[in-house]
Amino acid sequence: MANIAGINARPILNSRGEWTIEVGILSDDNNLYMASVPNGKSVGKNEAVSINAFDAVENMALLDQELRGYDLSDQASIDARMVELDNSPDKSQLGANTMLAVSLAAARGGAASNEMFLWQYIAATLGTELQSFPSLVVNVINGGLHAGNGLSFQEYQYLVSGDRPSDMIDTALELYVALGERLRERINAAAINVGDEGGYAPNFEDDIEPLRVMAAVATENAADLKVGLGLDVAASNLEAPKEDLRETYNDILSEFKLAYLEDPFNEDDQGAFREMTETFGDDTLIVGDDLTTTNSVVIERLGSNGTVNSVIIKPNQIGTLTETFEAIDAANQVGIATVISHRSGETNDTFIADLAVGAGTWGFKLGAPARGERVAKYNRLLAIEAEAGF
Ligand code: PGA
Ligand code: ZN
Repeated sequence: MANIAGINARPILNSRGEWTIEVGILSDDNNLYMASVPNGKSVGKNEAVSINAFDAVENMALLDQELRGYDLSDQASIDARMVELDNSPDKSQLGANTMLAVSLAAARGGAASNEMFLWQYIAATLGTELQSFPSLVVNVINGGLHAGNGLSFQEYQYLVSGDRPSDMIDTALELYVALGERLRERINAAAINVGDEGGYAPNFEDDIEPLRVMAAVATENAADLKVGLGLDVAASNLEAPKEDLRETYNDILSEFKLAYLEDPFNEDDQGAFREMTETFGDDTLIVGDDLTTTNSVVIERLGSNGTVNSVIIKPNQIGTLTETFEAIDAANQVGIATVISHRSGETNDTFIADLAVGAGTWGFKLGAPARGERVAKYNRLLAIEAEAGF
């Protein structure tokens, strides 16, 4: 057993050159456990509120004082105490970022003091058994708020499934490289711009053209692993009326088999989501993100009434690991799929890779296999594969 002996924090930079927070927890057996947290740009209205990183660092004095002596293995009590101290409906007092950084660093301490790998510790906490690895949701073309190319949709993804991370990553890389070559040929240039999550960000004729290029590249490559196409529309950021969006999806779905469609409508339009799930939900994951914001109560409700058949899980949308576990549990209870996700402004922290494997989620959304902060998660999956003895 190891207890918290002290907590300190500092502002650090994320992948977009914005300030975020890094935390170190010192244990009474003299180990240091670190964690840092990301920032989103397309933020759901009901997300827990992350505060200015410098204010977050200031708030750490209170948590340092209040959490000393807590058993690092007692994640639930550490998180509950922070929620109590924050005492706001949206974590805006202490900051969701402040709390999450402490929560994640504590879990690393809990894992180490139980002599477990982090994914193993998470699996033990949740009672999951490692049966398979999550499919990868690989963002290869960026648009929306994550790029300056005029594409309305935020992310165009390949969905890659397989027995082992190394196989899936091989496929993801093959597709990413082949797609890059194809897109460079089109613009006759040696290099091509990428967006916030490492996906290519050239100009296209319309919002459907990227899918055509991706489908052609997928057909020519990676024949032996299951590959699907996906989109994160992030429709809360769009002005388009839902009738137009619906028409676009009908066009897309008559031309392509879309395996994954995230936030196809504004987060206020639950009815449009439900209709989509009723019509296409047998073949396509209709995924809530801004709609559900990792909130267990919302996930329970919108999962059980058929509004979505899967949800994004982002720890910083809710602010503690325990509440993230509750969100995953709620989704499991109502039988909908879960996808652990990074944010567009990431750090090199790889916690979410362990979370995806440890919680046994259906998917893991981690950007393109390029840019250091994304690559860190891919590489962590490779290490987990070795730790798991596959
Ligand atoms: P964000 O976008 O991290 O910029 O909020 C990610 C998403 O919408 O999935
Ligand atoms: Zn999203």
